Amino acid sequence: MKPSRWTLPVVVVGLIAVPLWWAWPGFAVGWRGAGIVLGWLGYGFIFASLVCMMREPRLARWFGGLERMYAWHHVLGVWAYVFLLAHPLALAADWLPDAPDYAWSVLSPARQDLAGWLGWAALLCLMAGLGSALSARLSYSAWRWLHGLLALSVPLGLAHLVALGITDWLLWMPVLALGVLLWRVLRSDVGLGALPHVVSAVSRPARDIVELTLKPMARGVRARPGQFILVAFFEGPRFRGCHEYHPFTLTHIAPDGSLKIGIKALGDCTRHIQSIEPGVAARVQGAFGDFGAVEADKPAVWLAGGIGIAPFLALLRASPPARPVTLIYLYQSPADAAFVAELEALARQHAGVSLQTVVADGGPPDLDAILPASEVLVGRECLLCGPPALVSAAVHVLQSRGVPAGCIHYERFDFR
Ligand SMILES: Cc1cc2nc3c(=O)[nH]c(=O)nc-3n(C[C@H](O)[C@H](O)[C@H](O)COP(=O)(O)OP(=O)(O)OC[C@H]3O[C@@H](n4cnc5c(N)ncnc54)[C@H](O)[C@@H]3O)c2cc1C
Repeated sequence: MKPSRWTLPVVVVGLIAVPLWWAWPGFAVGWRGAGIVLGWLGYGFIFASLVCMMREPRLARWFGGLERMYAWHHVLGVWAYVFLLAHPLALAADWLPDAPDYAWSVLSPARQDLAGWLGWAALLCLMAGLGSALSARLSYSAWRWLHGLLALSVPLGLAHLVALGITDWLLWMPVLALGVLLWRVLRSDVGLGALPHVVSAVSRPARDIVELTLKPMARGVRARPGQFILVAFFEGPRFRGCHEYHPFTLTHIAPDGSLKIGIKALGDCTRHIQSIEPGVAARVQGAFGDFGAVEADKPAVWLAGGIGIAPFLALLRASPPARPVTLIYLYQSPADAAFVAELEALARQHAGVSLQTVVADGGPPDLDAILPASEVLVGRECLLCGPPALVSAAVHVLQSRGVPAGCIHYERFDFR
């Protein structure tokens, strides 16, 4: 099936609505009925949210990209929590008029049986995990650890249903949700679905940046310029990898399936990778994303900040663009200017490409002066890649100059 922007909403609505529709006629009415419906609804949202965090290249293509899936994953997770929190409140409200004491026992963690405890534990895990997801200040590793509590809420929720004695066929939903969670953990986080590669070459094009060639040990990933992969590095002759999967944009795809990526030291793991050497084992997932896959015939402005040059380099290395392109490349200082000589050579070779390099010199770049004027921007596709703050500022300037949102495409080197 051809991907469409409706595929994701339709699948999500289906995942939530089908079990609810099946379950509805059997429910009691009133607060008790509402409580049961809210519980299943919450689980439906969790199920849909888990489907949106699967890192399968085909599914991501189908759903409009990993970034879009993650955005849906977060929103669905928040609604799941709202419904699941309302679930015990509605059940308690059912008892309130006739037996207030019993109503309180439905809510009080101190007066719960095993099923109640499991339900509360699932809710607490959801709450802690969501709190971390909404906190922008947490370090990435702390965020990941706390986010893992969300995963724990899935088996706890299932155990809650089993302890309640529910044998209804609707139990397939939490069971499937657990299956989806295990699939994601084993294939993506543990890496069983990743393809083995080896680092076959290392170059250092600028300060704190390495460019690596990854050679497939057997089958390679299917990729095109503009896409990114998730890579984890393991052991080599003298190098010990950090074993974590991180996203990196391809800078080149060779006909034999070898891939190149440029890695800038932006945190603990990427700093450690700067000392990598040929022979290190790597595992690759992907490829993901559709950056660069916009109408090829319209003239374009490409804006790259720092290592955000990666997708543009891949596009230029692959083939001469079929349209006029202005590439504006911003970097902090001459020592950070990776690939400039090669970009200059490519701009000379490809008549339609003009290259403008800008040294930011520590301060925030003056995008008002750097970006083309409104009349030059008319009818142009604008592709932006780099640090989130640069991308946001550039989007703002472009929109203020009348560039329609549909003509602005960006890749932020940051998603959770
Ligand atoms: C789509 C995409 C493409 C990218 N392409 C490149 C590239 O070509 N070259 C390059 O040098 N960098 C790229 N990055 C950024 C790179 O992934 C992070 O710099 C790297 O993961 C940092 O890891 P760390 O452990 O060194 O730093 P940390 O201190 O752990 O993280 C620094 C920041 O990087 C981000 N980050 C860390 N780990 C991940 C992860 N597993 N998934 C998503 N974000 C993470 C977080 O926002 C975090 O705040 C890309 C990021 C994304 C989302």
